[in-house]
Amino acid sequence: MSSVSHAGQNQDINQFADIKQNLLNRKRDLWNQIREDLEKEAMEKHQEIANIIKENGDIALEELREADTFSLIGLKVEELEEIDQALNRIEIGQYGRCIDCGRWIDKKRLEIMPYAVRCRDCQERHEEIQNAS
Ligand SMILES: [Zn+2]
Repeated sequence: MSSVSHAGQNQDINQFADIKQNLLNRKRDLWNQIREDLEKEAMEKHQEIANIIKENGDIALEELREADTFSLIGLKVEELEEIDQALNRIEIGQYGRCIDCGRWIDKKRLEIMPYAVRCRDCQERHEEIQNAS
């Protein structure tokens, strides 16, 4: 009679509290870096955006794109998008669930790759398909 409950399989939002905090910290760092990058640029419109970020802490990502800053900060904006998606998935309780097979992704994997949306098997399959095409 070893009916240890399935508690370990329940995906409690609280178990992602650390990851969520790391994502929020990373997000703040990225916004600070973006602001600094824009301030270093001599272009006036970049200064304006940097000032808005300074006041508000962030700005809509679409606005950054439209403002023609993307070549300067593109990789950081892409990472911010991944962070926002991960945070959103935490909010709706889908964080850590593979988008392909629906299984829960190994927590260790999530700690190393907090933006991962697929389990290891599905990610490998996904990459094989992408490389083949
Ligand atoms: Zn999967």
